[in-house]
Amino acid sequence: MNKYPNVDGYKVDEVTATKLISTDVLVVGAGNAGMMAAAAAQEKGAKVILIEKEKTINLMRVGIASVGSNAQKRAGTVINKQELVESLASFAQHNVDERLLKTWVDNSAESVNWLEDKILKPNGAHFKSEPDAMMTNKAYQGFPTENDPTIDDESFVSYGNWFVKYQKEHKIDIRYQTSLVKLLKEKDTVTGAIVKDLGSDEFYEIRASKGVIIATGGYSANKDLLQKWNALSLKKNVYNDSPRSNGAGITAALNVGAKRDEEPAESIFDRGLVPIGTKTEDLYYQTDSYDNWLWIGSYPFLKVNLRGERFANESIPYQFIVNAASKEPGYLYAMVWDDNYAEYLEKMHMLGCARYGFPGYMTDKAAFVKDTESYVEKGLVVKADTVEELAEQLKLPINALKQAITNNNKSVISHNDQEFGKEAYRLTPVKKAPYYGCILGGRILCTFDGLRVNTKMEVLDENHQPIRHLYAGGNDSGGFFWGSYNDRVPGLASSHAQTFGRLAGKNAAEN
Ligand SMILES: Cc1cc2nc3c(=O)[nH]c(=O)nc-3n(C[C@H](O)[C@H](O)[C@H](O)COP(=O)(O)OP(=O)(O)OC[C@H]3O[C@@H](n4cnc5c(N)ncnc54)[C@H](O)[C@@H]3O)c2cc1C
Repeated sequence: MNKYPNVDGYKVDEVTATKLISTDVLVVGAGNAGMMAAAAAQEKGAKVILIEKEKTINLMRVGIASVGSNAQKRAGTVINKQELVESLASFAQHNVDERLLKTWVDNSAESVNWLEDKILKPNGAHFKSEPDAMMTNKAYQGFPTENDPTIDDESFVSYGNWFVKYQKEHKIDIRYQTSLVKLLKEKDTVTGAIVKDLGSDEFYEIRASKGVIIATGGYSANKDLLQKWNALSLKKNVYNDSPRSNGAGITAALNVGAKRDEEPAESIFDRGLVPIGTKTEDLYYQTDSYDNWLWIGSYPFLKVNLRGERFANESIPYQFIVNAASKEPGYLYAMVWDDNYAEYLEKMHMLGCARYGFPGYMTDKAAFVKDTESYVEKGLVVKADTVEELAEQLKLPINALKQAITNNNKSVISHNDQEFGKEAYRLTPVKKAPYYGCILGGRILCTFDGLRVNTKMEVLDENHQPIRHLYAGGNDSGGFFWGSYNDRVPGLASSHAQTFGRLAGKNAAEN
């Protein structure tokens, strides 16, 4: 009997397969980990089937971390491996498997180089190392880990279609609209899976002689699982930006005896615009198109709680302001800024995915203004000629907001934030009308707590023994993150997925 119900609602104990097909390696999920896993297994000589429940692969991420890639060598970017491992472990208070951190550090460059050589270069693109690192204050150590796929060194290029072409040329059998229903295990070995062809409604068995790799991207789209494993995330987040990831892989593996992380880990963006007057628990909006995503939300402008009081240093990793707000009434917060805001953006020197000049998107001041004004039109950002009027529109107590703005403006003049210590170069006045404001809440990008794996990406059972022929990669694999995402190591999430996907593919093929 399965401990977890099938997340798509199939009655797994009653499902009968109508046919059987065989392969060496079955990869579940054509996203960042699964695409790399399939290619790596094929490269090692395995016959590979890659199933994907949607009609397309998932977005292959740009901005991928590594230590010592060829792009980094060309740019002279040097990162101390030991320092980075220790920093990641300390960020997680060592609630992680340090061997996995080391495995990532040691293998990330090979993974990024493979992508550059096999997918980017044949299509006229390459990686560019981003040599700058986000250093704001001593509490957060930054590392210049990011590699950006580009043709012209100015803008990002997307490479998903090139990757699909590569897979086809290498005879990888990609089956779209094919969903994992359950894993099959005989004695101590996973032998394959029952899958559903969503086009024909047919259930069939894929037998995989060398192994199954689970890479379905975590569980942020599944409210029941969030309630069970990370209940606070439902209050912190008003959006989920990974609607494909409903925990199918993790629950299927748990049903064959896998062990999962016991504490949550997640990545949350601080850009979720909330209709004024809406409670956080009223909303859980699933989107893959960046709806109501305010770019300047990640900038360290003045932020106050729903009582109009400043509650934290705004110049912190992007998830941390959402964490801090989760200790405040209503779990949401407001951001206020003034008419000169576009002039301050560049000097705030944001990096990673909040960067001023984000290639292809937020290239200049005009792009930020256009983004912001589009939400004024939608009523999610409000504009007012006086602070009183702004407070009214945001439904914030007027006196408290006035006080917060007065304190803020004093800090700007004295170059000293006596309340929370925001760096002087990031202090910006709120004094030139019209004033702007909005209510913000978290956007969960993905969950990271997953199946326990060893450094070969073999999934472990309750006794910490590998389950034969079962592998996991990406957000379905755990032990690597704990709590919040470390944005001072830009591109870590996608690189973790791709590097570990690649390792899972290689190791499964070598069985
Ligand atoms: C908006 C956004 C911005 C981000 N920005 C960054 C960034 O700048 N840098 C960074 O490093 N990371 C970023 N991330 C995180 C990064 O995208 C993820 O960590 C990474 O994609 C995880 O890879 P994965 O392979 O585990 O999952 P995914 O890439 O999500 O792939 C999982 C795949 O499995 C498929 N699937 C699910 N269930 C089934 C099933 N039952 N059967 C078959 N297939 C199934 C899904 O459809 C999907 O295609 C961002 C994420 C989001 C949402």
